[in-house]
Amino acid sequence: MSTMVKAERVCKSFGHVEVLKGIDLEVRTGEVFCIVGPSGSGKSTFLRCINHLEKINAGRLYVDGTLVGYREKGGKLYELRDREVAAQRRDIGMVFQRFNLFPHMTAVENVMEAPVQVKRVPRAEARKRAEELLDRVGLADKRDNYPAQLSGGQQQRVAIARALAMDPKLMLFDEPTSALDPELVGEVLDVMKALARDGMTMVVVTHEMGFAREVGDSLVFMDGGVVVESGNPREVLTSPRHERTKSFLSKVL
Ligand code: ADP
Ligand code: MG
Repeated sequence: MSTMVKAERVCKSFGHVEVLKGIDLEVRTGEVFCIVGPSGSGKSTFLRCINHLEKINAGRLYVDGTLVGYREKGGKLYELRDREVAAQRRDIGMVFQRFNLFPHMTAVENVMEAPVQVKRVPRAEARKRAEELLDRVGLADKRDNYPAQLSGGQQQRVAIARALAMDPKLMLFDEPTSALDPELVGEVLDVMKALARDGMTMVVVTHEMGFAREVGDSLVFMDGGVVVESGNPREVLTSPRHERTKSFLSKVL
């Protein structure tokens, strides 16, 4: 089993505030890796580091065996050029709590935008693929709707299709259902479950413990910028070993 993400003593500070204090973890290729933990524990920051939205201050972060954002030569690190960073980012899809769709574009236009603009895929081909992806997330009949004409759950499914349009080898989800009305959570989780079944490697920050238990292959509990506990989701969620994990789970379960 190969490794998709490897973090070794990853640290990230904002000014004097150290937000990630030495994160060690490994995401295997093809697995669903869940990250849970209280607000402010550094979950989003960690995902943002994987996707080049933040730069780490210390440690090493690898995606698919390649150092993120840097090149190592003679024991020294050199920052990658913008073009090299863009190439690394292209392989990673990210879905946020807020759907961030382009409001002036229809669903299908949202999904085809990056392939056309970034990969220079011909429009007709990109549109065909976008329609297939919208079909896959159950929105074949909504392709010509604008985001404002879609429910939150539908918008989030368009956002997932949009991320998939770039053929990512890794998908990052940052609390993808937290902004949704409760009755819309299920349809988004169902799309994520199907994606997991198809073998996509997924790192999912979530408060949906049912999803973590059912679909997750691994789970880490983060608190205060460190990984407190990790393991099989069913084991960690049913018999947490650390007090901090117990206390957190007693509040969310
Ligand atoms: P989580 O996603 O677990 O709720 P975050 O990664 O969003 O946690 O935030 C962890 C900490 O880092 C918080 O205290 C937050 O205020 C701080 N933080 C996040 N982004 C920035 C930033 N750009 N500048 C300063 N502080 C930040
Ligand atoms: Mg967050």
